[in-house]
Amino acid sequence: MNSSRYSEEDFNAFLRELIDTNRLSDSKEEGIAKLVIDKGFESLSDKQKYVFKEAISHYVYDECKRCGIEIPWCEMSAAEDNGGLCSWCQQLSSHDD
Ligand SMILES: [Zn+2]
Repeated sequence: MNSSRYSEEDFNAFLRELIDTNRLSDSKEEGIAKLVIDKGFESLSDKQKYVFKEAISHYVYDECKRCGIEIPWCEMSAAEDNGGLCSWCQQLSSHDD
């Protein structure tokens, strides 16, 4: 993932959701995520950036598995549920059933 995406506007909402639903594994990861919300990804130390990327990597899909577009942060939790599809492809595939 291109780290400039961590500065996108809707990224903070995605992080808040991870925190609110207790999906980060410990208080250290949660603290770093809160720091990103407060001050931005670029304010982290290299070590914190590494921990942060690892922490959210389980929940992040870079591209839609079907059409390859970049999945927006606001669709990320839906992508997690449907196995990595953008909302468009999810709609299409639900019609296949
Ligand atoms: Zn797609």
